[in-house]
This record gives sequence, C-alpha cells and structure tokens, in this order.
Amino acid sequence: MPDSWLDIAPDAQFGLATLPYGVYTVDGGEPRVGVAVGDHVLDLGAVARAQDAPFADAVGGPNLDALLAAGRPVWDAVRRSLTTWLTDPAHEETVRPHLVDRASVRLHLPFTVADYVDFYASEHHATNVGRIFRPDQEPLTPNWKHLPIGYHGRSGTIVASGTDIARPSGQRRPPTDATPTFGPSVRLDIEAEVGFVVGTSSPMGGRVAVDDFADHVFGVFLLNDWSSRDLQAWEYVPLGPFLGKSFATSVSPWIVPVAALEAARVEQPAQDPEPLPYLAGSRSWGLDLRLEVRLNGHVVSRPPFALMYWTAAQQLAHMTVNGASLRTGDVFASGTVSGPEVAQRGCLLELTWSGKEPLTLPDGTERTFLEDGDEVTITATAPGPDGTRVDFGEVTGRILPAT
Ligand code: MN
Repeated sequence: MPDSWLDIAPDAQFGLATLPYGVYTVDGGEPRVGVAVGDHVLDLGAVARAQDAPFADAVGGPNLDALLAAGRPVWDAVRRSLTTWLTDPAHEETVRPHLVDRASVRLHLPFTVADYVDFYASEHHATNVGRIFRPDQEPLTPNWKHLPIGYHGRSGTIVASGTDIARPSGQRRPPTDATPTFGPSVRLDIEAEVGFVVGTSSPMGGRVAVDDFADHVFGVFLLNDWSSRDLQAWEYVPLGPFLGKSFATSVSPWIVPVAALEAARVEQPAQDPEPLPYLAGSRSWGLDLRLEVRLNGHVVSRPPFALMYWTAAQQLAHMTVNGASLRTGDVFASGTVSGPEVAQRGCLLELTWSGKEPLTLPDGTERTFLEDGDEVTITATAPGPDGTRVDFGEVTGRILPAT
C-alpha cells in the first residue's frame, strides 16, 4: 500500500487500509459525508466536486443513502479515487483544504435505516443462552444448525453511538411469582454484535445467493443490541424478542466498506450437517474481526467474530430465499458474538451466567447486569493488507435511569 502525502502516524486509528464512511457536522452546521483518515475527516462531497468526480452527486448529500444505492461499481470507484487522492502528491493541493480535524466533528447516524433483522449466529452464544433459559432441554433447538435464526427488530430505534439509553420499563414475571409485575428492567444487558448495511436493493420475488453478498452489502459496523433479559424471558414465548429489545439499538458511526475486509476474510467454521443448497457458496465470508467490550472503561470481553457459525453471506441468502426484497439501508446484525472462553462472551447474561457469577470491576464494585450510569463501549479491529490494520472505531452508550 503506497504512503500518503498526509502525515498519518503508523499507529493511527484510521490508516489508508480502512477509509470508513460517516456523516458529520462541525459546530451545528449542515451534515456532510466524510471519510476518516488519520486525525482528519475528509469532506467527501466537497472534494469530489473539486475533483469533478463522476460520483460527486452520490456523495454530495447529507447522508450515505445515495452512495449506498449507487451500487458496487460506484463504491469501488470512490474507494479507488480516495486512495489516489490521498497518496498521489499531485492531488495534495486540491484535497488538503477539505480535511477537517476529526476531534472537532460530531458524528451522526450515517444512513436512513430501512428494515432491521437481528440473527443468532454464534454457536457458543446460542448454546450458553439455551443452557440458561431452557436448562432441562438440548441447548440448541433442532433448527439451529439448519438455518440462521433471526427476528425482525425495530429500525426506528436504531441510534448513533453516544446516544444515552434510558432503562426500559415493562412486564416481567420473577420465577417465584404466578403473575407479572410492571417496572424498570432489573436485568439490563448488552449484546456485542457486528452489523451489515445493504446498498443494492433486490426485487420482491428474487433471491440473493451467498456468492452475491459483495454486490449487495455496502459495509460493516459495530452494533450493541441492548437487551432487557427480564422483559425478554417473560414475553419471548412463542413469537420471539419484542419489547425486551426494541427500546434501543446503538451503532458505530463509521461504516467500513466490505472492500476494506479482503485481508480479513477467513474460512468459516465447519458446518455439520451440511446446510441446504441455497445456503452453500463461498465458505470464505468468515471475517476475522476482533471485538473488545468495555464496561466503564474496563475490558470485560474479547469476542472473536471469525468463529461465527453462520456468515453474513448465508444470512443474506436466507433473508431473501422466500422472495422477500432488500431495500437500500436494510440492516442485519450477526447476533451476539461469543467465543468458547468465558472472557470471549459478548453479553452479561453469559459473562455472569444469568447473574449467578458477578463480574468484579477494578473499582471493587460488582456487576451482574447494567446499573444506571454504566457506560458500555465496543471496539473492533481486523487485519488489513500488508500487515496493516482495519479499525471499526467504537459504539458506545450510557444507561440513564428509567423515566
Ligand atoms: Mn441480538
């Protein structure tokens, strides 16, 4: 990878290997599409106009919607141009005026979220949750290894990183009681996940094959599926998650393009039994993303995304196999990422084994589930080309008392 004329520290968070897209404002001004590079954000709309780029209209709006809809050839052209503009000294004079200090920007939800689906693709997570929620049964349900299980979430409550999360209230029934009570959730949890955003739509009645993943999915980001376990445990039978999840879902503001993840692609874990033919295709859509979960600044888990049983490409094929259409801005998430080790579990339900094994934080306090004032931050990195690093930034959120 060539060097930039821009002074990017070797250990900078966003080197040329990542070049993620986001939406920013400066001092309450108009939202603009930006690209993070080193300590800067490049005003992509302005620089594309200055360069008279053919895709200037697709990146000139207040969000990523037009770029998402533009499709793979345009996504590739933008990324190629960005690399050229930031490495060829001939472009420095035109590009430099459109760099802003990254510390001075406010980041926003970068695209209009269409539909939202959340999956359940970690075998370790599903096994642990099965043991906790249904101790007298097989931990994995009979369908689990035949299809990527998912549910439709609430797209209208997907919020940008940094948004405070009010503790939800609702119905719960303690195991010792015959009837439910109403009140603030007492088992508020996180789920460390990876999200995917669809760019290119597909028609109703069509199907998207596993191998067409990169033609439809624009980018990848981090997602915290805040979950109220007491609400969830009472309401989820028989139709699945509802109010225990729909109050808020936080997403990281920088969208890492799929094209940045070529060096992070790995073979997915062996699948036994062999999935049905519509779920077959490239097995190398495993992604070597290494997540870290911090609770009040203290690392409590390092979930390995490479071990996910179902890939995002299989999830996309499954979502459309019945003829459901895809819309630009559709989000689907992986499900909680958990590995085989205790310190690789992506939610407090598993980390504390349903509250029976509290975590001790460095300040001496213990946690089973989240307390008011707690702040949770998820970060991730992945290998980039030639020993470089792809960085996903962070998704963070703080718990406020119930209203
Ligand atoms: Mn989830």
